[in-house]
Amino acid sequence: MVIVLKPHTAREARDQFIKELECYNGVSAHITEGSMVTIIGLVGDTSKVDQDFILAHDIVERVTRVQEPYKMANRKFHPKDTVIALKNGLTIGGDQLVVMAGPCSVESKDQIIEVAQKVKASGANILRGGAFKPRTSPYSFQGLRAEGIELLLEAKAATGLPIVSEVMSVAQIPFFKDVDIIQVGARNMQNFELLKELGHLDKPILLKRGLSSTIEEWLMSAEYIMSGGNEQVILCERGIRTYETFTRNTLDLSAVPVLKHLTHLPVVVDPSHATGITWLVEPLAKAAIAAGADGLMIEVHNDPARALSDGAQSVKPEMFDGIMTSLKRYADMEGKHF
Ligand code: PEP
Ligand code: MN
Repeated sequence: MVIVLKPHTAREARDQFIKELECYNGVSAHITEGSMVTIIGLVGDTSKVDQDFILAHDIVERVTRVQEPYKMANRKFHPKDTVIALKNGLTIGGDQLVVMAGPCSVESKDQIIEVAQKVKASGANILRGGAFKPRTSPYSFQGLRAEGIELLLEAKAATGLPIVSEVMSVAQIPFFKDVDIIQVGARNMQNFELLKELGHLDKPILLKRGLSSTIEEWLMSAEYIMSGGNEQVILCERGIRTYETFTRNTLDLSAVPVLKHLTHLPVVVDPSHATGITWLVEPLAKAAIAAGADGLMIEVHNDPARALSDGAQSVKPEMFDGIMTSLKRYADMEGKHF
């Protein structure tokens, strides 16, 4: 971190300021004195140093971070890729490509079991399904809630597929005891109290990117979970808000290689929420694999026209089967397998 002091700062004020800075554990200050301007280089672990606190000092002109504010998620401190292993032996972040497929919402026992069996037959290795649904309108279907989780567990028992489902609040966490991966949705990416609680669990967390979050904000949210002790975080790019209106969101594919550069955490891509359009799922799934993603999340519904949420972006099982066949070639090219 580089701190530029205002010209003609008195020596006593500068020394007092440096004393305050060195109260941060493991940080030391190196002074470079010019004829007019003094620059302080803060070295060591500056992740806990608050930029605003420094700027609040009258003698400070400017502060620039040269090190990322996240540490546990940072590849610099953990060069090897994190590989997360589920109880059934499936790994996320290694050579295996994970495909999380299933309906936006769990709607009934027949629906979730039928979709689970079909996506499994096509090669998906994780079943997705929302039980607690974050909906823009309070009048829209809110999910089957606890019953939805029970039905997902029945589908898991029937197919052997691990399950992923979204949690929206701290109070809902107990319902997720037997859920293999807990999803934090875009709308809750910065629900810091929720992230802190999830940091105390021994369970993988799928952290979706916020609706208009920067990559750094997203990694800071991962840091919240990891700094609580839970290092099993999977990042999911699901599109961000831009000026474009043709697609539901804009899939930020560059986020995939950028994340691979910045962090050791696995990265998956959700082309369904990113585009909102079924025929865009296949080309963007291919692009995601080519960009280096460790997996995909795809919404599949047995009867999209009657889906209680996100029908327009949900592919039918037959279409999903075709997508999986065409993705295999792309996985091979990247040296990955399903
Ligand atoms: C979902 O996965 O159904 C969902 C609500 O996703 P997102 O948080 O990305 O909108
Ligand atoms: Mn959805």
